Amino acid sequence: MQLNVPTPSEQPFVHQSQLLRAVLKIIGVFSLLIGTINIFAFERFDIAAFNFVSAIVALLLLIYFQRSKQLLRTSWLTCAAVTFNVLMFIHLANGESYSVLWVMILPPIMFFLLGRAVGAWLTAALFLYVIVFMALQLPSAEPRAFSISGLLNITEVCIALWFLFRFYEGSRESAYRQLERQSMTDKLTGLYNRIKLDAVVAEQHQLVSSGQLKRSIVVIADIDDFKSINDQLGHIQGDKVLQHAATLLRNFTRDDGIIGRWGGEEFMLILPNYTLTQAQHYSDLLRRYIADHGTPFAQPLTMSFGLAELGKEIPAEQTFIRADRALYRAKEAGRNCVKVAHS
Ligand code: GH3
Ligand code: MG
Ligand code: MG
Repeated sequence: MQLNVPTPSEQPFVHQSQLLRAVLKIIGVFSLLIGTINIFAFERFDIAAFNFVSAIVALLLLIYFQRSKQLLRTSWLTCAAVTFNVLMFIHLANGESYSVLWVMILPPIMFFLLGRAVGAWLTAALFLYVIVFMALQLPSAEPRAFSISGLLNITEVCIALWFLFRFYEGSRESAYRQLERQSMTDKLTGLYNRIKLDAVVAEQHQLVSSGQLKRSIVVIADIDDFKSINDQLGHIQGDKVLQHAATLLRNFTRDDGIIGRWGGEEFMLILPNYTLTQAQHYSDLLRRYIADHGTPFAQPLTMSFGLAELGKEIPAEQTFIRADRALYRAKEAGRNCVKVAHS
């Protein structure tokens, strides 16, 4: 049996991490470039010094993120650094119109790194700050860096950007959630699928190995003689029996454990913090509950169960093999019973 631990690219927040690294690298390279231009082309040493400090900050944040993997904290620090950069530049350039262009980079960074709600609040506050700052400059700026119509246009662009990014980030987040739900759900039964079960077992194994969880039991439950149910009723009705079995399993287990479809007519139940004896007793109650209900077509429905405990020292894969062997013994013992793999 194969343990399919999700690859790094399947793990959540991987895109945010990539964007974070990209943003920090871009800030670093851009700051160096712009700093050099400011020295040689414009002789603005004050802005250049500021640019070089920004490049160093970006590099330090990149190193911090690589070491700590603290996505949220580094995202906040990066957004703070970008904001500080943009606002300082606008101030140092006395609100010249070209400097104000830089506020446009705030929404894509903030919405994506901090989420729709926080991104919306922060960009709204920053846009407002810049617009008020420019409006205050209007009477004194001589010659005028921008006109009233320039200010109005920038305000309109800021508002349009704010709405567009809020909408865009909202639909991106909901599409991501939908995709995440689909990727872990079995289409026929609506239970967790094998990908998710593998991830849950891998996580439980890690918790047990590190001592954060005392123990965890893996239960494989297999419908008895399902082939003959299929043969009698046909595959379509057989599917309905599978859905019915899934509903029974879900109704019985509720929040006691994590249940999913392992494949075909096999289900898996993970019972954290149960001893083998408790899990055996629990599985036996579940077995009786299923046998008492039968199929929706008034035929008997029974399941056999194989149990094994996730061990600290042994790979999780071994637990599947042991639970599967226990299940095999349950089948050999005449089905409709529970067997335990003792270590
Ligand atoms: P045992 O008691 O030893 O487990 O016998 P069994 O007949 O349940 O086991 P077997 O492995 O011989 O047959 C399993 C059957 O489950 C064969 C396969 O056609 C059927 N099956 C697997 N997936 C599905 C499905 O999604 N829908 C339907 N209708 N049948 C399925
Ligand atoms: Mg079977
Ligand atoms: Mg089977």
